Amino acid sequence: MSLIAHLRALHTVDSQVRGIKTRFENAEDALKRNQTQLEVVSGKRRDLEGQSRQVQAMISNLELEDSTFKERLENLRTELNTSSNTKIYNALRDELKVVEGKRDELAERILAQMENLEKLKRELTTTDTPSQDRTRLRDMAQATLAEAKSELGGRLAELEAQRGRAADLLKEDVREAFDEAADRNDGEALAEVTVVSLRHREFACGGCNAELPLDAYSRVAAQADQLVTCLTCGRILYMDQIPDRPGAKKTKAAAKEAALDPDQLG
Ligand SMILES: [Zn+2]
Repeated sequence: MSLIAHLRALHTVDSQVRGIKTRFENAEDALKRNQTQLEVVSGKRRDLEGQSRQVQAMISNLELEDSTFKERLENLRTELNTSSNTKIYNALRDELKVVEGKRDELAERILAQMENLEKLKRELTTTDTPSQDRTRLRDMAQATLAEAKSELGGRLAELEAQRGRAADLLKEDVREAFDEAADRNDGEALAEVTVVSLRHREFACGGCNAELPLDAYSRVAAQADQLVTCLTCGRILYMDQIPDRPGAKKTKAAAKEAALDPDQLG
């Protein structure tokens, strides 16, 4: 088996491994996204509940204060009704007015806080629904991930073992070049050399379309199990069919010779 054949075998199993891993990653990302959104909505709900409790406590305190004022006013009125001294009467009347004024102010504050509480309660009822929806979406994402894992987990382990065996057949530098190329190019570690113009000795990487130096073409065309990578994208280059030099004998040896010696090209 040639180097390229080995690399192709590795690529076949490697793309299957990557495919399954991508599915897992997508499902995990979706779960994470839904979890975060759920936390945002739940956080908002917790905030509103906290604010409601605070306002409720404030109203209770104000109402307590109001009952003190009420008591004071009742006492003042009783004193006023029983007072026979004009000076004391006037003093009591003035105080009554002051306390009444304070109680009115307090009533306004209570009313404002009650409106505040109503508003918070209304907001709470509207955040109810998205929270349920979010929980449902999060649960669905969780189920999708669990399903993918149970469906494909065993297959992935099998393929990873297979991938390991295919990689073991390659030298370390080749294996590293393959992994790097695959990581850089979404798993597409190999690329065929494109002959742009044999006559003008123009060649390109079939993966990224970058122009290839003649030397790279020659080394690939030699089919001598050499590792040749595209300098631009890192893909490992290969050629299934070596183009014949016009007028040359169509033997593999001749093709090899032509490929090795750039001066004989085109
Ligand atoms: Zn390239």
